[in-house]
Amino acid sequence: MNRFVVLLVSFLSALYQVSAAYADFDGPKVERQDIFVTLKPADHSVSGESTISFAAGTRTVSLRLSPTAKVGAVTVSGEHLPFSFSGGVLSLDIPKTGGSGTVPVTVVYSAVYNDSLPLNSGSSEDPTYGINGVISAQGTFLGAGAGWYPAPPSTPRTRSIRISAPAGIEAVTNGKRVSRGTAGAITHSVWEEANPVGILSLCAGPYRIEEKRVDGVDLYTYFYPQNAALSSRYLEAAAKYLRFYSDLFGPYPFEKFAVVENFFPTGYGFPSFTLLGGSIIRLPFIIDTSFPHEIAHSWWGNGIDVDQREGNWSEGLVTYLADYLLKEKRSATEGRDYRRQLLADYASLVAPDSDFPLSGFTSRVDPASRTIGYGKSAMVFHMIRSEIGDRAFFGALRDLCRERMYRSAAWSDFERTFSRSSGRDVSSIMKQWFSRPSGPHFVLSNVTRRQEVTGWVVSGTIVQTAPYYEMRLPLLLETDGIPVRKILPVSQGVTTFNISGPAEPRRVSLDPDADLFRVLDPGEIPVTVNSIKGSKQLLAVMTGQCRATGETFGRLLESLGQGKTAVIREEELNAARVRGHDLIFCGTPKDRSLLPALPVGITLRDAEFSAYENVVHAPDGLLFMVSRQPQPSGRVVALFQPLSRAAAEQYVPKITHYGKYGSLLFGGGAIRYKGTIQPSVEGNSVVFPKYM
Ligand SMILES: [Zn+2]
Repeated sequence: MNRFVVLLVSFLSALYQVSAAYADFDGPKVERQDIFVTLKPADHSVSGESTISFAAGTRTVSLRLSPTAKVGAVTVSGEHLPFSFSGGVLSLDIPKTGGSGTVPVTVVYSAVYNDSLPLNSGSSEDPTYGINGVISAQGTFLGAGAGWYPAPPSTPRTRSIRISAPAGIEAVTNGKRVSRGTAGAITHSVWEEANPVGILSLCAGPYRIEEKRVDGVDLYTYFYPQNAALSSRYLEAAAKYLRFYSDLFGPYPFEKFAVVENFFPTGYGFPSFTLLGGSIIRLPFIIDTSFPHEIAHSWWGNGIDVDQREGNWSEGLVTYLADYLLKEKRSATEGRDYRRQLLADYASLVAPDSDFPLSGFTSRVDPASRTIGYGKSAMVFHMIRSEIGDRAFFGALRDLCRERMYRSAAWSDFERTFSRSSGRDVSSIMKQWFSRPSGPHFVLSNVTRRQEVTGWVVSGTIVQTAPYYEMRLPLLLETDGIPVRKILPVSQGVTTFNISGPAEPRRVSLDPDADLFRVLDPGEIPVTVNSIKGSKQLLAVMTGQCRATGETFGRLLESLGQGKTAVIREEELNAARVRGHDLIFCGTPKDRSLLPALPVGITLRDAEFSAYENVVHAPDGLLFMVSRQPQPSGRVVALFQPLSRAAAEQYVPKITHYGKYGSLLFGGGAIRYKGTIQPSVEGNSVVFPKYM
């Protein structure tokens, strides 16, 4: 497994979705655009000619094109016209004519794209790898931001793209493939969009193509020969998820869906195709995780564009409808565990200075922004669905698809549609999440029980820290008999409650199934690799037992987003240095009291580690463990213990991808054990002793 693959194992769980949006524009309307491009991988260039038919009467035109492009000529109805081209904007004035038809502006141009591929992915959260455009023998990727064709400021009503390349180089872009073939030294394809959305991306390579037509939609795989054997699995999965989502939201909005292999490890979603790195395609779990996420974006984010003025809703919605919903469909327990994980991620990864309201999310740039824009946002959709019910929730999503497809939508459109479909005003529920960072914090307090003639009554208060949220809080009373559930509306600092039940109470819990977005108490959060990533006061210590070089230890810190952490030697450690810090040790410190006890089942010897039945021996093996320092500090402490320098180098890049785990054991080139100690749930429940 190379480093790129490892990187994506974690980040593909929440794939990047390329937004090619642009805001509503009042300029001249474009009736049609025809684009002809010829790819020349040998010299990394594209030459093109595009005709943009503006609405009759258009007098001024501005087109966006790569600032490094060479513009050969601009003609209007066949007449050469003067133009200006600077800063990536091509402008021209069109002389007034008596004609009443459209105004066809043709641009002849060429451009070179040779962005270099990343050699070391590091811990980058940038899903683009900084690559806008590459045309090479290995493959071609021209993103929406590359300016590879002259783009008018408003989306054309219809659009066609003809791509030529050396024989054997197959290309893909938006739209229906209306023709494709090889003649002489040239392979060409033609794509037509009936309902264009956004700005086009294009990819090409020496692909093997497989295809299948399902329910009127052309499904394709464009894979490099070494992955061609996986085509049928992807075509079947595409058919399965297209049907699943069509049943939920209404018809699939595009003419085709293509799974295209990229030569660098992306997970992109474009209108009507997804671009996955070859190493990603081979990962067995992708087909039922990232892949349905990308397909759900066909409706949400690609079919309906994001009106970014109120923040990006699409990642939260798609996380909810793919990553989450598919788990919930497998079992209620998997659904609940996923929601708990979202809350734990927020509590471990988002610090006050990295927090922002949902309206401030545009795209993920680091773990905190992903936790908010994907995870917290998904929880908001969950709360709305819990509040208005499945019928109103999915009914509203179908209505939005009908009303907003091929246009954009904002959070306020969701608010309006959920209110309409449920017959209730959900604006007050939704607004509190958009305008404020963080979330509510609840504590159970003064909980007592008493026996009455007819049964038992449990009373108590819910204390909420300001600023207050308006929520409907689920309470669960477990008894010797049937459990009793109650929904308690809360909107103040203190809310009292009574729950009656016929049998003796055992335990009362607040939000037992993690149905609400709330800020967990430290006692409710497992201590994990994410706790180190989220630490604001980390101190790194190289001990005499550290078998990694300082450079490798530094790479570990960098991959955990802690590259700026001070690294000291064990001899420099003292109580004053430790105070107020989370700690990460390379090697076991002489003062073992700094390390908490090993979790049950894990043993650590000089040349051998084990986690339950998994044993690794020197020189191949590495243990990474995170736990909490004993009270009163309650701070987090991590132990990074490789069995050799080589093992340190080999396994360091993998650790960051196991964020939700507290203990990791590597050996034999792979993860051998991963585990998390669940915290006690004392933070949100009160247990009663057996009544005497
Ligand atoms: Zn996404």
